Amino acid sequence: MTRTVYVNGEYLPETEATVSIFDRGFLMADAVYEVTSVLDGKLIDFEGHAVRLKRSLDELQMAEPCTKDELLEIHRKLVELNDINEGLVYLQVTRGSDGDRDFVFPSADTKPTIVLFTQNKPGLADSPAAKKGAKIISIEDIRWGRRDIKTVQLLYPSMGKMMAKAAGCDDAWMIEDGHVTEGTSNNAYFVKDGKIVTRPLSNDILHGITRKAVLRMAAEAQMEVEERLFTIDEAKAADEAFTTSASAFVMPVVEIDGVSLGDGTPGPIAKRLREIYLDESLKAAI
Ligand code: PMP
Repeated sequence: MTRTVYVNGEYLPETEATVSIFDRGFLMADAVYEVTSVLDGKLIDFEGHAVRLKRSLDELQMAEPCTKDELLEIHRKLVELNDINEGLVYLQVTRGSDGDRDFVFPSADTKPTIVLFTQNKPGLADSPAAKKGAKIISIEDIRWGRRDIKTVQLLYPSMGKMMAKAAGCDDAWMIEDGHVTEGTSNNAYFVKDGKIVTRPLSNDILHGITRKAVLRMAAEAQMEVEERLFTIDEAKAADEAFTTSASAFVMPVVEIDGVSLGDGTPGPIAKRLREIYLDESLKAAI
């Protein structure tokens, strides 16, 4: 089946979809994105992603390409047209193109570019990777200072994943000024003596949609949560660790920089939070 994608108001076969070579997303990474997961053919936390998209656009003085209702309709139509039961919807909005390359933003009436496509991922919820748990390495965080804006500047996170792969691991956590910021594409947590510790929100990390939901669910389940800076050594000495993201939900971490956590298998709190998250999110999916 040829994938149907959405570009600037049109639903097209992926082979016919085009964007200008002068698009600022392409030339300057002047673009923001969201990834919403699909379970049981329904969107998980669409509202959270729509609100964060608006915030990213506002922070960069970028125009909204359409209303939230239109965005929901496009998401749903792509899920339906591509027959997605489990998978992802990728959305990108760029500052568009005024037909040339210039560091200065184009005039305010330049239309933003909007692109959406689906990724079919059978087995997303019942993931073998989550049963095994992830091995991570730590690397320096050399990204720019506005990580709270979800831009498409993903070269360093991409390099981080490659460094992890080269080390025989699955992912990397990044460290700045002696403290863990986040994973290359997820928020980072460790658990010690039953308490969940994660870095507080600031411009230094992405305000994860899954982070917000998981912290709420943890509190509802009477789990203790502390939001504070932490070091990689604290995480290495933890009973367990995990990451959260919209595409991998709650992912147990079983090894950090070659040090096994607990008995080297996914920890009970990470497993429980994954179950609760999947359960509750499915119930609320639209
Ligand atoms: N941090 C970074 C750097 C990310 O790329 C992501 C995934 N987009 C996250 C955290 C997790 O955010 P979310 O739960 O909204 O997917």
